[in-house]
Amino acid sequence: MSRVYNFSAGPSVLPEPVLETAAEEMLDYRGTGTSVMEMSHRSPAFKDIIDSAEALIRELMGIPEDYAVLFLQGGASCQFAMVPLNLMTGSGRADYVNTGAWSKKAIAEAKRYGTVNVVASSEGKTFSYIPELTRDMFDPEADYVHITSNNTIYGTRYAQLPETGEVPLVADMSSNILSQEYDVRKFGCIYAGAQKNIGPAGVTVVVIRKDLIGNARDITPTMFNYQTHAKAGSLFNTPPCYSIYIAKLVFEWVKKLGGITAIQAINEEKAALVYAFLDNSPLFSATVEPRDRSIMNIPFVLPTDDLNAEFISGAANRGMINLKGHRSVGGMRASIYNAMPRKGVVALVEYMKNFEIENS
Ligand code: PMP
Repeated sequence: MSRVYNFSAGPSVLPEPVLETAAEEMLDYRGTGTSVMEMSHRSPAFKDIIDSAEALIRELMGIPEDYAVLFLQGGASCQFAMVPLNLMTGSGRADYVNTGAWSKKAIAEAKRYGTVNVVASSEGKTFSYIPELTRDMFDPEADYVHITSNNTIYGTRYAQLPETGEVPLVADMSSNILSQEYDVRKFGCIYAGAQKNIGPAGVTVVVIRKDLIGNARDITPTMFNYQTHAKAGSLFNTPPCYSIYIAKLVFEWVKKLGGITAIQAINEEKAALVYAFLDNSPLFSATVEPRDRSIMNIPFVLPTDDLNAEFISGAANRGMINLKGHRSVGGMRASIYNAMPRKGVVALVEYMKNFEIENS
């Protein structure tokens, strides 16, 4: 068996111990004689899995009791509609910050349900920074303020959360949930597709303040109403059982590593290895303003398209895959989520150093 270093933006690398446990438990999950994929979602064994998954994410993120944790389907993209359908029901207005392709999709969807005010945008500079946000920029009557806490494609993250006063802050945390500490109390709602730091695609985690549930507009499809899932403990219909099971294993892995404080320190150190190299390189350059750099997704470029292509194919030959940048930025992007081992980052930086020597 040979495993590569997978720098994919998502679905992305999973922790090896998680995959090993899943393999061991595949045919006979803890004496049930079935795999998790084959068991009823109403069975005691699965009830234990989903309850443990919820308890673990609550513990890891410090989620208070007055917040619900929901395991949903439809990806973060479904949340682009669920958020406005459920929350844009007071003034019918919401403030959005445009920091990339995913923000734009969230904005386009929300516009179908109410008045969207784009309070700031970094589009003019290829989303290479996070706009300065001050409290006076937000509508005090808005139903919520929406941000994308980490921009997967452009490699930016909010170094600081915006101050929105009484207006609930909603964050698409798909690409940096569980990577750094956040005070959940600062948010009205957090959502994340699983396929970066949580587990396989198929489950979407929503953490939402309970008082924000129950005000969905009348036309809201039952499955799009947070209340439906909150009332049923995410078991209104068949949930993505296997994805939830792997998520539970990932949460256990994070806990064993020392929780989010520990993983944040590891992530910062891994990212610093790459940024330190980029900042001192005469050949490679980072594309993001230093203050707003993501510790999960690191885009970088070489001076020509030919060199970019050569770098990417050379990396693949050395067992480092999925380094091609998104077409809107070009060059390369290294996604170094929680499960990317430090060794993988060291191998990447070593290769970059050698590439630089050979091409300078
Ligand atoms: N938001 C962000 C920040 C993302 O990175 C992605 C996917 N990569 C999405 C939303 C869309 O997620 P999904 O594919 O789960 O709908």
